[in-house]
Amino acid sequence: MVTESQDNTMREALFQHMDRLVLEFGASLPAFVLKRRFVFEDFGFMPLQQNGIFRPQPLQEGDAAVVLLSSVDGPYEDRSDVETGYFQYRYQGGSKDRDNWYNRALRSALEKQKPVLYLLGMGANEYMPLYPCYVINDNRSNGFVNLQLVNRSVVLTPTSDVEVTTAIRAYTTVLAKRRVHQEAFRGLVLKAYSDTCAVCSLKIRKLLDAAHIIPDGEERGDPIVQNGLALCKLHHEAYDFNIIGIKSSYEVVVSEKTMELVDGPMLTHGLKEVHGKQLIVPRRIPSRPDRERLEERFQRFLRQS
Ligand SMILES: [Zn+2]
Repeated sequence: MVTESQDNTMREALFQHMDRLVLEFGASLPAFVLKRRFVFEDFGFMPLQQNGIFRPQPLQEGDAAVVLLSSVDGPYEDRSDVETGYFQYRYQGGSKDRDNWYNRALRSALEKQKPVLYLLGMGANEYMPLYPCYVINDNRSNGFVNLQLVNRSVVLTPTSDVEVTTAIRAYTTVLAKRRVHQEAFRGLVLKAYSDTCAVCSLKIRKLLDAAHIIPDGEERGDPIVQNGLALCKLHHEAYDFNIIGIKSSYEVVVSEKTMELVDGPMLTHGLKEVHGKQLIVPRRIPSRPDRERLEERFQRFLRQS
């Protein structure tokens, strides 16, 4: 028997476990990391399972699913759901199986309003952990439910189904959306660039960022790979402060002011020597930086540097 409070604590512990993994490996987690055993009190399980809907033992009939694995595996560019944090999740099995073990566990998550971990397939055997997600409605006749990612700090005290749904929607703050955006964006950009700084080829993932070409929040500042560049911390800041610019021909330019400075090796090797270099771009052509956006940004560099 697992009590209500143990169930809640276990879910929170699982989310904290995910926090640690994300900190170590980034927003997209390789499958092997998710196959490491998560231990809570006297039981444990692998977060990544074969089945889409997973409820570990000793949870039992009537208890809610804990992990949902996405059935779709697709490139982020095509996924508007990642931006809203609102997902459609298919029942397991065909139309005759709507009441099977898995789907009952899925529906229990709605009835009991238990937060679940949603592992969204990002391709290449990587998953983005989205948590906490709530099942917010059941479209039984069509065989799917909807999931909503909510802000972590939200604690729900449901009184009725309708109120719960409204409460979750209301609490789905800009913050939660931003988190998904940024995590997804970083994961995809770093993957496209094989964890390499596009300017200096540094390959230390922890020192790499996904920089926007057109800044986030502007009209063309979309969180898409083509509007991104994998840059190390130094070159990211340098790009944002117009110390370096990037031409639409993928040539790196260092501002004249900086070229005239005289200082130690960091300035010489880190900045002055990248002047005139060709940007390192993804092998996949559709993932390469958008030349129009680069040009627009380069014009700002010329005006401000
Ligand atoms: Zn760099």
